[in-house]
Amino acid sequence: MKSYNVDENGYYGEFGGAYVPEILYKTVEDLKNQYLTIIESEEFQQEYNQLLKDYVGRPSALYYAKRMSEKYGCKLYLKREDLNHTGAHKINNAIGQILLAKKMGKTRIIAETGAGQHGVATATVCALMDMPCRVYMGATDVARQRPNVERMKMLGAEVFPVQSGNKTLKDATNEAIRDWCCHPADTFYIIGSTVGPHPYPDMVARLQSVISKEIKEQLMEQEGREYPDYLMACIGGGSNAAGTIYHYIDDERVKIVLGEAGGYGIDTAETAASLNIGTPGILHGSRIKVMQDEDGQIIEPYSISAGLDYPGTGPIHCNLYETGRATVLPVNDDEALKAAFELTRMEGIIPALESSHALALLPKMKFKADDVVVLTVSGRGDKDMETYLKHFQK
Ligand SMILES: *Cc1c(COP(=O)(O)O)cnc(C)c1O
Repeated sequence: MKSYNVDENGYYGEFGGAYVPEILYKTVEDLKNQYLTIIESEEFQQEYNQLLKDYVGRPSALYYAKRMSEKYGCKLYLKREDLNHTGAHKINNAIGQILLAKKMGKTRIIAETGAGQHGVATATVCALMDMPCRVYMGATDVARQRPNVERMKMLGAEVFPVQSGNKTLKDATNEAIRDWCCHPADTFYIIGSTVGPHPYPDMVARLQSVISKEIKEQLMEQEGREYPDYLMACIGGGSNAAGTIYHYIDDERVKIVLGEAGGYGIDTAETAASLNIGTPGILHGSRIKVMQDEDGQIIEPYSISAGLDYPGTGPIHCNLYETGRATVLPVNDDEALKAAFELTRMEGIIPALESSHALALLPKMKFKADDVVVLTVSGRGDKDMETYLKHFQK
């Protein structure tokens, strides 16, 4: 049977693989050889699920949004990852990876972060597990996501502002990889999305797959069937989307619609819509669609949302896009802002700017009245209040 899951070589169609410098080869190879055995072990599953339940607060609610359903002419359910401890889906993955790091005998944690949600999640699990933690963050993001920077520091992490490039997520990732190259033996790099060399995309997708596992159970309870007609999510590197679709990826009854960051529009230079306008290239250890010029130089991305401001998308979604399994639409800054205010006023939920890129897909869709739609709200909007208030209209 045709599958959209990873193959034995770490590829999704023509995307993925592990393109790492010689110095990291052994470290990545060790991880590749051990991650499945550890993750699938009873001991790991017991510890991981216990923490997801008692510490993160899972299962996260599947909320039937009545007013929004009426407006968009469908049955709209919101998968509430914004209700998780630390405010986004990132914590599911961070908990899994730190357990893995401990089982592999690592003693130091590094991470990259854009909006700061992954940095906060990583700093949180490092406090929990008593591990030293350094978080790389672009200086632009340090300035625009201040509350999360303060949280990381309070949690005991060292936040390292990165001054290269346009000082956002790509630059933070470069710096984290540089650090990893200097300390491959003792350091575990907790990557925050379905990006990076194999096995990271598959590992992160598995650690986020709890989202779709719960959707199945919750839909069964509320709708009497396990599958929706549509799954919708925003997409930066692809982890909340990967978790949302994981258990449905080969079930073609379920349509997948994803929103990537259009910025000012894909016909402008100010965009981060790498699936719509990128071309295949190698970035941060894997073959993906990248925004690049003819010489293979990365084009600096732009999005109002720090968590989506990245010039590539993970290999899982590159393959879903190229094969047509997923529809990926660009969502511009103004559309995302409008969607954020709409959810706030219609349902009393202030979403993260990233999640607003999923919500802004709704006006672009034509649903049938009995279509069951599950849309993942990847995080809450506290960190984005400053941006929202700047654009606030009554
Ligand atoms: C990081 C983040 C994203 C984007 O990352 P994905 O890996 O694509 O999920 C989306 N929403 C929130 C709230 C985030 O923190």
